[in-house]
Amino acid sequence: MSASWPRRPRLVAGNWKMNKTATEAIATARALKDAGVPADTAMLVCPPFPALLPVRDVLEGSGILLGAQNLHTEPHGAFTGEVSGAMLTAVGCRMVIVGHSERRHGMGEDDALVARKLRAALRDQLIPIVCVGETLAERESGETEAVLTRQIAAAFGGLVAESARGTVIAYEPVWAIGTGRNASGADASAMADAIRRGLRRLGWGELADAQPILYGGSVTAGNVGEFLAEPAIDGALVGGASLKPDEMAGIVARAALTANARLAETPVG
Ligand code: PEP
Repeated sequence: MSASWPRRPRLVAGNWKMNKTATEAIATARALKDAGVPADTAMLVCPPFPALLPVRDVLEGSGILLGAQNLHTEPHGAFTGEVSGAMLTAVGCRMVIVGHSERRHGMGEDDALVARKLRAALRDQLIPIVCVGETLAERESGETEAVLTRQIAAAFGGLVAESARGTVIAYEPVWAIGTGRNASGADASAMADAIRRGLRRLGWGELADAQPILYGGSVTAGNVGEFLAEPAIDGALVGGASLKPDEMAGIVARAALTANARLAETPVG
C-alpha cells in the first residue's frame, strides 16, 4: 500500500510502551485478533521492538495494523541500540509514533529531531503519528496554542503538504498522559482546530481539513465516546488502556459506534 490514508480514518492506536515480553505480547495480540475490528475502523498496535515480529505473525489476516514506537533518522549505520524505519517496514510495520512526549520530555528529543524523524518515516514508507501537546505549566500559563503551533511548524514546516498527506497527528496534552486526567472532548476539539490552523499557516490550504488528528491522554472505553463525538477528532492514541485486550476492544467498538452515529447525523447534499 502507499503510505497514506484514502480519507480521514477512524483509528484507534495502542502504544504498549516498554511493556510486555514477546510471549505476553503474543497473548495480547491473539486476544485482540479474536475480538476483531469493526468495519470502517482501524486498529493499530505498537509493541516494543522485540515483540514486533511475533505480533506481526499473530495478527496476519486480522486487519489489525502493526506499528512501532520510535525510529532513528538514518536508514542504517553505526548507531548502536537504534532501529531504522527501513527495518520497521521490513518486519511489517505500517506506522510509527514520532515525538511522543515521553521521548520529548524524558529522552531529550527536541522539535528539530522530531522533524527529522518525521521525514525519515515518510522516506521509509511508514505513516508517522506525530505527537504534539503542552505541559501542565504551559497550559496554566495560557501557552497551549502557541506550543502546538510551534511544534507543528517545526515538524511540518518546509514539507510539501502533498508529501505529508500520509501522516497522522496526535494531540496529547502531557498532563493527561498516564495520569488518569483527560482533557474534555470540547477542549480536545478546540486544540485539533488549533493544529489545523497551524497547518493552514504553513500553506496547507484544504489539506489541513483532510489531516487526521487523534486525541491521546488517559483514554478508556468509558470516555473515548466523548472525544470521538467531536467531528474534529478522528481517533485515539491509547497507552495504559491498550495493554488490556478487553479494554482496547471496548475502545474500538465504542469508536465504531460513535463513527456510525456521526455519519448518520451528517446532512446529505
Ligand atoms: C500515550 O502513551 O500516548 C498515552 C496517551 O498514554 P495513556 O493512555 O496511558 O495516557
